[in-house]
Amino acid sequence: MSKNIEELKSLSTQIRRDIVRMVHAVNSGHPGGSLGCVEYFTALYGKVMNYNLPFTMEGKNEDLFFLSNGHISPVFYSTLARFDFFPVAELATFRKLDSRLQGHPTTHEGLPGIRVASGSLGQGLSVALGAAQAKKLDGDKSIVYSLHGDGELQEGQIWEALMYGAAKKVDNIIATIDYNGRQIDGDTDDVLSLGDLHAKLEAFGWLVLEEKNGNDLEAVIAILEKAKSETGNGKPVAILLHTEMGQGIDYMMGSHAWHGKAPNDEQLASALQQLQLDEITDY
Ligand SMILES: [Mg+2]
Repeated sequence: MSKNIEELKSLSTQIRRDIVRMVHAVNSGHPGGSLGCVEYFTALYGKVMNYNLPFTMEGKNEDLFFLSNGHISPVFYSTLARFDFFPVAELATFRKLDSRLQGHPTTHEGLPGIRVASGSLGQGLSVALGAAQAKKLDGDKSIVYSLHGDGELQEGQIWEALMYGAAKKVDNIIATIDYNGRQIDGDTDDVLSLGDLHAKLEAFGWLVLEEKNGNDLEAVIAILEKAKSETGNGKPVAILLHTEMGQGIDYMMGSHAWHGKAPNDEQLASALQQLQLDEITDY
């Protein structure tokens, strides 16, 4: 919690190393969106969110985070491990039988930091809104954060939840959309265009913030802090966070191809070469 910006930037590179090593080790998983969301996670867990360790499922009087696009579990697991929710060495069990680090997060395995199963897209906003309302009923002033893929917004349940959040004035939630313009089958504009998403979210009654540099750590911290300052004003808050799928690895950027594909041995070596650090602490 007390890391400075330079330390968080180094940590972001280490998390990227973890992501590519994890998916390479089992030849499966989702590196693209994971790499694109690293700065969101390091900002959230390193600067913005107030949370308690050791983790408790109850989560009273602390901020909560719900990952709705559960397939980007590599960045979530690495972040949780690097922020001391569970041992970093456990990252080596990713996607293995009997591991607590399943391909998509579940609560059944009892992994600290995981509050809900996710991976079935479109559900996380409803979950987060429910948790936010529960906090209000409890007189708990904490904030609920959630993260969603932009492709995920094609799910109908999202729009029910958006309507609900505004109608019920759930103003203690900050829902971030990983606005990378890509999804598993191609560009979101080609698969099913979201149109003017900013205007649509506003029309649904949300306060909408937008950050074009979603892979700039300081910018991400700033937009999250801005969002925090907008809570409690009668409207739920959304952030459109522009990121690059595959950020940090040249051959993964600029395409949807690495949404759910693991690098081979040569590709891993190239990726790690691009993710250099003064002090590497690979698991
Ligand atoms: Mg996307």
